[in-house]
Amino acid sequence: KSGFVAIIGRPNVGKSTFLNRVVGQKIAIMSDKPQTTRNKIQGVYTDEDAQIIFIDTPGVHKPKHKLGDFMMKVALNALREVDLILFMVNAEEGFGRGEAFIMERLKEVDTPVFLVINKIDRVHPDELLPLIDQYKDLHPFAEIVPISALEGNNVERLLEQIKERL
Ligand code: GDP
Ligand code: MG
Repeated sequence: KSGFVAIIGRPNVGKSTFLNRVVGQKIAIMSDKPQTTRNKIQGVYTDEDAQIIFIDTPGVHKPKHKLGDFMMKVALNALREVDLILFMVNAEEGFGRGEAFIMERLKEVDTPVFLVINKIDRVHPDELLPLIDQYKDLHPFAEIVPISALEGNNVERLLEQIKERL
């Protein structure tokens, strides 16, 4: 099995921490231009039965300037081409405007989306359910997966769920 997975989410939610944990090989950067329109392969996870290619889709965030509109279109097209989107949020911070903006964009793509709630090591389990409740009515997420990218909790399980979708 093999497929492409995009990881999106506000800065600091833990995207790089997650990638560093799961990705064995760092793939050479396709272009060193910042905000390139080309999707950047961030790394590949491989095991006996699967290859997951993680790609970066710049521009899904709230645009700060005019060029942002173009980047947004590019980003949306990228999201349409992947097999799965991981939308990562921070369990500590809950749902904010940055998340609302991304969720609006997700309405425009048919690609399945996993809501990945990261940093669960920082919250009490009781705080997780209200957060899940808040999100689950906003988008038909294919899965909702709480993890700690830093400590590794549930990361293996998330990889299994990703593989089932490829
Ligand atoms: P990115 O901007 O989405 O790529 O976020 P980073 O991976 O750079 O992480 C931002 C900060 O959050 C760093 O200080 C990480 O160590 C921290 N972080 C990431 N994942 C976790 C987690 O699961 N638990 C905790 N406590 N901190 C985390
Ligand atoms: Mg990062």
